Amino acid sequence: MVKKICVFWYRRDLRLDDNAGFFKALQDKNPVLPIFIFDKDILKELHNNDARVSFIHENLQSMRKKLQEQHDSSIAVFYGKPKNVFQELISQYQIETVYTNHDYEPYARDRDKEVKEFLDNKNIRFNTFKDQVIFEKNEIVKPNGDPYLVYTPYKNKWKEIFEESNLKIYYTSQYLDNLIKNTRLPNISLSDMGFKKSLIKIKGFDVSPDLVQNYEETRNYPSKKNGTSGLGPHLRFGTVGIRTIMKKAIAEKNEVFLSELIWREFFMQILWHYPRTKNTSFKPKYDRIDWINKEEDFEKWKKGETGYPLVDAGMRQLNKTGYMHNRVRMVVASFLCKHLLIDWRWGEAYFAEKLLDYDMSANVGNWQWAAGSGVDAAPYFRIFNPTTQIAKFDKQLAYINTWVKDLNELTYPPPMIEHKTARKRCLKIYKEALNQ
Ligand code: FAD
Repeated sequence: MVKKICVFWYRRDLRLDDNAGFFKALQDKNPVLPIFIFDKDILKELHNNDARVSFIHENLQSMRKKLQEQHDSSIAVFYGKPKNVFQELISQYQIETVYTNHDYEPYARDRDKEVKEFLDNKNIRFNTFKDQVIFEKNEIVKPNGDPYLVYTPYKNKWKEIFEESNLKIYYTSQYLDNLIKNTRLPNISLSDMGFKKSLIKIKGFDVSPDLVQNYEETRNYPSKKNGTSGLGPHLRFGTVGIRTIMKKAIAEKNEVFLSELIWREFFMQILWHYPRTKNTSFKPKYDRIDWINKEEDFEKWKKGETGYPLVDAGMRQLNKTGYMHNRVRMVVASFLCKHLLIDWRWGEAYFAEKLLDYDMSANVGNWQWAAGSGVDAAPYFRIFNPTTQIAKFDKQLAYINTWVKDLNELTYPPPMIEHKTARKRCLKIYKEALNQ
């Protein structure tokens, strides 16, 4: 007789501990088969040396190793379309339940709907759990049930509800023997999928008391080593659990650091409530802006050859490392939309291609913030001056000198547009769209 099992489907939660859905699966009466699917539809959009694919692969291999060595188990890794993989799995196992964690991005919601329908038809339960945020969907809403569109009242409500609730960490170590006993589950290599190992490596993160306590003094200075936590990619791929991080943030009592983690949840719930904002302006008027969208200008911005040293430093840092400091992200995004009048969607797509911590909700949310089109966005007439920002945040030019080695060479380009001219042009074009 085929043995009954349950499946835990890993997605953006690549860890064994403090993982809500994995914890629930381990409580099932049947042994758990953990799986991961490299989704063909997602991978086909990526470059063959994408650092994020390497990172996921590497983490899966070390999780497999740990389970093989310590629990006579492993993780089955597949490459394909999720529905087809499930089709194959049910021909091999008698699956009663599939467990997984919620994913709020529009593509993931459609995918999960399709998989759920498929499993429903086979009488297999599809149980999903909140894992990547503290509060999701409709948990933080106005008294009338509408979502918050302004950050500060959202944050206040978030904190109020957080204080009333119990932060549960899902410790799994004592249940790992409920995993299926098989160390030779299917695996896949990067080259099997047409990928190669990236030379860019995702670094670890730092949430030491020192860093969290000093966060507001250090976080705005892009030249500061370890001025911010480096949590981005880890929260994105779930190599650390948000509850574990939140516990630290609370223990160190740093309001500013906590606020940043709440911004992340704010944008997650916005994308969940308004999936259309992934490529349309939250404020529809902003889709009337007559963007100039000059390809040549866009290329200069991408390469970091605008002649504005802070913008160029940021773009070169991004191209080389897959990371850009938050302060500089704001400057380059504002520059693209307001100085060059290039559609925020172009910038968003470029960041999506390059950022190791790319997360649709945060990226779209922040780009729309910079363009002025989003919820609680920067007003359209606030236009960052990319030169005075240097005096405020990189006075000694330490950051710029790291990334713009040719700053004092004759080959370094002059500013591609004069700030005052750009500002005037931007206000005119924005006003025309918004006053229609
Ligand atoms: P820290 O400063 O140490 O912050 C800790 C964590 O808080 C971050 O890892 C992140 O999860 C969260 N956080 C901090 N600031 C924000 C914010 N403004 N919005 C949402 N969450 C925040 N962040 C992403 O995670 N993915 C993106 O794709 C992304 N795109 C951005 C695009 C633009 C144009 C801008 C201006 C910002 C973007 N951010 C994005 C937000 C922010 O720049 C990064 O989260 C941060 O720089 C990552 O570094 P860190 O982990 O050291 O952050």
